[in-house]
Amino acid sequence: MNTQVEKIQISGIRRFAEKVKNVNGAISLTLGQPDFCVPKNVSEAMIKAIKENKTTYTSNSGIDELREEICTYLRSFNIEYDKDEICLTVGGSEGLYSVLFALMNAGEKILIPGPAYPAYENISIMIDAKVVHYKLNNDFTVNIKDIKEKLDTQNIKYLILSFPSNPTGAILSKEQRDELVTLIKERDIIVITDEMYSAIIFEDYYSVAQEKEIKDKIIYVSGFSKIFSMTGLRIGYVACLEKYMKEIIKVHQYGVSCAPSIAQYGALEGLKNSLDDVENMRKTFERRKDYCMNRLKELKLEVAEPKGAFYIFPSIEKFNMPSEEFCEKLLNEGKLACVPGTAFGSLGEGYMRISYCYSDEVLKEAFDRLEKFLEINFPNC
Ligand code: PLP
Repeated sequence: MNTQVEKIQISGIRRFAEKVKNVNGAISLTLGQPDFCVPKNVSEAMIKAIKENKTTYTSNSGIDELREEICTYLRSFNIEYDKDEICLTVGGSEGLYSVLFALMNAGEKILIPGPAYPAYENISIMIDAKVVHYKLNNDFTVNIKDIKEKLDTQNIKYLILSFPSNPTGAILSKEQRDELVTLIKERDIIVITDEMYSAIIFEDYYSVAQEKEIKDKIIYVSGFSKIFSMTGLRIGYVACLEKYMKEIIKVHQYGVSCAPSIAQYGALEGLKNSLDDVENMRKTFERRKDYCMNRLKELKLEVAEPKGAFYIFPSIEKFNMPSEEFCEKLLNEGKLACVPGTAFGSLGEGYMRISYCYSDEVLKEAFDRLEKFLEINFPNC
């Protein structure tokens, strides 16, 4: 066996979702799958693609029309890429994998947020790169001082940014974006910015990818799993300069050849004609976020207000129990599944992740159960 692979584990999010299946009557708030259907015209475009036999390999980087359309879409956020700087991938996951594999050498250091989406750390371990975590502020925004300090004192080559964040819902403010841009200009680093949830944001959107002057240091990863509720159709993309893309495409080619052809036609239709559906979904998530915030505050749980994505990350520290144990107890006794914060790395200890991409009824029942569970088990907290 590859000893590096042996060092990592299947994602804690998945492991926990599996446990839920064995608990009769449990409600799960564990998954990052929007509860909306794929927009109708997107599914029709995919059916049409099948009927027209568009089921063959596409070019490695994907169909031209979709890459063009992605450029137009990104331009609406002031992010400039050319069609040839875009590669369609098998979900954002394969995008991240191909990027990190193409860039990093064993022993090199990568700076990753903690807590964070688990792929960054685990892919890095597989490559035998050395992971260094940067801290987040109390409201989970990026702690630029800590990033600076770590860049100053350690030989770090890569930095991961991830906004809106899974699991915290934090985003980048204009000031933070500008400060990061200045920092990136000064340093010899490559930044991978994972913006999987950029369409689900409740305030103004800012990204380091908007600054043209640092384009040669930025690799942008995103996708359609969340925005068109098509997590199973596996379509994402990477955008970067050709000097990076020519290496990334090799990893991509030998790993997957190309992204699924049918899903590429679906995403194309989505970008052309379904952005209104995305906006409606975004508004629904914002309303649900407000509901979750109110219920958590009523329960006197400390929580930072999410500004994007569809996750909320309350502190459970006051219950004095490891987050894994707390979530197991909540599942077995309270019949409610939330993901332990440690599924997002050791800096997630003391938190749990609630995904609110579930219906209003499910959310209400889930919070009623949480309330009852806390009353019974922690009456003095
Ligand atoms: N990046 C982040 C922050 C995510 O939360 C996810 C999935 O949940 C991904 C990347 C991977 O996305 P995909 O399902 O398209 O592979």
